[in-house]
Amino acid sequence: MIIDSHTHIFPPAVVDGRDEYLRRDAGFREIYTRLEAKLATAEELLASMDAAGIDVSVACGFGWADAELCRMHSDYLLEAAAASGGRIIPFCTVQPGGGDTRDDLKRYAARGARGLGELRPLHQGYSLIDSSEADVLAWAADAYDLALLFHCSEPLGHVYPGKTGLPVEQIGRFVADFPGVAVIAAHWGGGLPFYALMPEVKAALERTYFDTAATGFLYESDVYARVIELVGEEKILFGSDFPLISQEQALRELREVGLDDESRRLIEGENARQLLRLPAP
Ligand SMILES: [Zn+2]
Repeated sequence: MIIDSHTHIFPPAVVDGRDEYLRRDAGFREIYTRLEAKLATAEELLASMDAAGIDVSVACGFGWADAELCRMHSDYLLEAAAASGGRIIPFCTVQPGGGDTRDDLKRYAARGARGLGELRPLHQGYSLIDSSEADVLAWAADAYDLALLFHCSEPLGHVYPGKTGLPVEQIGRFVADFPGVAVIAAHWGGGLPFYALMPEVKAALERTYFDTAATGFLYESDVYARVIELVGEEKILFGSDFPLISQEQALRELREVGLDDESRRLIEGENARQLLRLPAP
């Protein structure tokens, strides 16, 4: 089973009315001002999956600062997933600093959300350290068995739209403070795997996964072998970052790395299948 753990779909209103949303949200503006930064609907995701041979995709929303935009996007994700026959797994989006967050989360879980993402605490205006927002996210993850997918980025290296991410100390503190919560640290965790060489950090990473989204844009392909050594092959999830990166290209790059068959099987889908409790094929 091939599972892409990191894709984004947007409601047609956002795809067609991009300019309006560029005005309304600074984080959206940072990434999507460039027209090369593609936006896709659920139909386009399903067509891409068919072409690339991907069985299931986790579809994420965007970390809007405004709670109402998060609600609109989450409703779309849930509807698209419900109509997909199990091929789209919805990760809803939420503004944990909003007033009705707990009600929103309860409703999303009841309608089939399996996670929250892609969360962007910096853009959304909260910290993951000693904050009520972090408490709400951890509560929901625990109460409703949701995985939390955070946008992480490297503090060093080349600058690109979306580089402003979660400081590595914030994601590190969150997973240490909430050890029972399943976390997906996107884009190889912005360097977090390196700190697994510290025994107490390694212990805190017990339920932390790292996805491969946008690898070709960020790292040499050696990143696979190195991170496998640091955290183990069972903690790595294949993700493309579709439609910013094509699923076909991301899967091809993964297969060109030369992993052994078992590592590849785990990373391509089995790790995500177990995390998301999907039935075996
Ligand atoms: Zn991201």
